[in-house]
Amino acid sequence: MNDSTAVGAGRTVIVGAVRYAELCGRGRQLLIDNGFALVENQTTVPWTAEQLHEHIATADAAVAGVEVFDAAALDRAPSLRIISRLGVGLDNVELPVARDRGVDVVNVPGGNAEAVAELALGFILSLMRRLPQMHDAARAGRWDRYVGTELAGKTVGLLGFGAIARLLAARLSGFDLTIKAYDPYADLDAAARLGVEIVSLEEAVSDADIVSVHVPHLPETHHLVDDALISHMRQGTLLINTSRGGLVDEAALVRGLESGRIGGAGLDVFEHEPVSPDNPLFSHDAVVTAPHAGADTIEAYDRIGWATAQAIVDVFAGRTPANVAN
Ligand code: NAD
Repeated sequence: MNDSTAVGAGRTVIVGAVRYAELCGRGRQLLIDNGFALVENQTTVPWTAEQLHEHIATADAAVAGVEVFDAAALDRAPSLRIISRLGVGLDNVELPVARDRGVDVVNVPGGNAEAVAELALGFILSLMRRLPQMHDAARAGRWDRYVGTELAGKTVGLLGFGAIARLLAARLSGFDLTIKAYDPYADLDAAARLGVEIVSLEEAVSDADIVSVHVPHLPETHHLVDDALISHMRQGTLLINTSRGGLVDEAALVRGLESGRIGGAGLDVFEHEPVSPDNPLFSHDAVVTAPHAGADTIEAYDRIGWATAQAIVDVFAGRTPANVAN
């Protein structure tokens, strides 16, 4: 099979995550320096189940991208001790099955929070000043000056007040604005420290000029932003979603954009990814998007790559790694 190459000698770490050698050099070197042999995905697409099943048979550890570690995969992994997830989400790993097989599953909570918070801030500023439209206009030879709005003095409503939302609040506080957040499990000390008022869901959106979504996608948060919630928003509210597509009912968002209650949307995530070019959201000028790239910064990959490698080194040195999830 030519989807992978082997590097080093010793216990085997399989790396299904794409672009690992390019983006996680420090963590990769830590593994090599500790005598691990790496079998790395050399393609730009995640391993299929068949590819993972072949590689996992000889693996002592895995640096996991989004390939699926279910019972069928774990049954083929007699030596596997740890799945170290290159990121936060663990929806591609069957945690109880891994626990039953004695496999530690670790992730890197907050490892890409700065990257996602900064993208959310980028969406906000892009929408307020219409940067993409002015850029396109200038390149097309038009000198279209759009009169934008300022962040200072505005109110931001955060849905969720976890790692990303708290960082966004910290970065936004320099803009001299009001921040409210809805999170039933909010860290109240952090809220007080950051000057954020914890309020109900409706209050978080009804006073806001900008609503930014930062909750996990769970059955109870599916379509958190729907027609009913949008009806509580002010006319022209900007909606940012860098969390998960399923949190926002896209059909309701399109209706909100058409009625003008939503004045613009900054979306890193979609209900179906990759997003289709004929998605009705693209017919609205005030929609700025990215291809689920919120976590993609040099620094985040470096930080997360190092943490995933350190967890593997720890397990084989007899230490308990940080952030065991199962
Ligand atoms: P986190 O776990 O630190 O924070 C999530 C917050 O949501 C917690 O404070 C929790 O109390 C709160 N919450 C849980 N259920 C809730 C509910 N029903 N209503 C309101 N709040 C609720 O996670 P984080 O690191 O801040 O990440 C947030 C989300 O961002 C992740 O779940 C993930 O989906 C998404 N994410 C996206 C990218 C990307 O590439 N765009 C990268 C990383 C994370």
